[in-house]
Amino acid sequence: MSTRPTLLLVVPVAWAPLWMPWFEGAPFDVLLHDLDAYDPKAIDYTLSFRPPFGLLKSLTNLKTIFSLGAGVDAFLADPEFPKSVPLVRFVDPQLSTEMAQYVVMHVLLQHRHQRDFDAAQAMAKWAQRMLPRKTADTRIGILGLGEIGTVAGERLSALGFPVHGWSRTRKTAPGIQSFAGESEFASFLGQSDFLICLLPLTKETRGILNAKTFAMLPEGAYVINVARGGHLVEPDLIAALDSGHLGGATLDVFQTEPLPGDNPLWRHPKIVATPHIAAISDPRVTANYIIDSIALVERGERHPNTVDMGKGY
Ligand code: NAP
Repeated sequence: MSTRPTLLLVVPVAWAPLWMPWFEGAPFDVLLHDLDAYDPKAIDYTLSFRPPFGLLKSLTNLKTIFSLGAGVDAFLADPEFPKSVPLVRFVDPQLSTEMAQYVVMHVLLQHRHQRDFDAAQAMAKWAQRMLPRKTADTRIGILGLGEIGTVAGERLSALGFPVHGWSRTRKTAPGIQSFAGESEFASFLGQSDFLICLLPLTKETRGILNAKTFAMLPEGAYVINVARGGHLVEPDLIAALDSGHLGGATLDVFQTEPLPGDNPLWRHPKIVATPHIAAISDPRVTANYIIDSIALVERGERHPNTVDMGKGY
C-alpha cells in the first residue's frame, strides 16, 4: 500500500487531460472523482471549485481542502462542509493580473465611449468628438481591496483615474484612497462614478449591489460586477438602469450560471454580459501551487491562504 498522500481532483471528467499532465512527478497520488475508484478514508487532500454537497464530509481523513478558485462561497454553502478541516483558496498573481485586465478594459470601453464609435463605424459615420468627462474627473470605487481589488486599483490609478477602495480594514495601497467599514460606505459610494465589485460572497456581502446602494451612487454611475452573482440583486439593477439613474453595467457573474437564455440581463441595452471569463485558473499554475501547498502542509505549516471560517473568506 502506498504511503504517499492522495489528492482527489473533483472536476468534470472531461477536464482530466487539461489537469492530469501537470501532476506528473508530484510526490503524491492523484485520483479523479467520478472516474477512479477510491476509499473515502484514504483521501488526504481535495482540489475542486464547486464540490457536490456532502462529498467533503464523506472524506473523513482530509488534511486540507483546496479551492481552485479565489472565491470559496460554493464550499461554505454546503450545509455539511467540514469546518474543522483547513480550506485553502487559490491566490495567484497571474489570476489577479487577468482580473485587473478585465476591469481596466471595461472601464476604458465605457469611459472612452467605444461602443458609440463601434455603432458609428457600422453606419460609416465620422462621429468625432471630445470625451465628455476627463480621466482625472472620473472617480473609481472598488468594493473589496484584497488580492485582486488592489491590483485592479493600482492599474487604474496608473492610467490617471482617481481610485478609492472599500474594505473591512483600513488599507495603505499606493494611489488608492482607503475607506473602511459600514460607517464609510455611504461616502465611498457618493464619489464612485464607476463601482467595481471585487468582494468575496459572504453573509455580509450577499445582495450588496441593491437599490439602496445604487441610490447612493452619483447620477450616471457605471457598475461592474466581477465577483459573484450573489452580490447583485438583478431586478434592482434593471430598475436603476431603466430609471436613468445608472449609466450602464458590465456583469461577468450571475445568480444562475450559465445565465438562462430568457434572462433579461442578456438583452438589456445598457448591460454588457460575459460568461464568467474574467479570469480562469490556469491548470499548470494551479497544479504547481497545489504541489507547493501540499509540501507545506506535509511539513506541518499553516498555509497563508487559509480561509478564516469566522469571516467566510
Ligand atoms: P480577497 O483577497 O479575499 O479580498 C476581499 C476583500 O474584500 C478584502 O479587502 C476584504 O477586506 C473585503 N471585504 C470582505 N468582506 C467585507 C465586508 N463585509 N465589508 C467590507 N469589506 C469586505 O478576495 P480576492 O481574491 O481579491 O477575490 C475577490 C472576488 O473576486 C471574489 O468574490 C472572487 O470570487 C472573485 N473572482 C472572480 C473571478 C471571475 O472570473 N469573475 C475570478 C477570480 C476571483 P479586508 O481586507 O479588510 O479583510
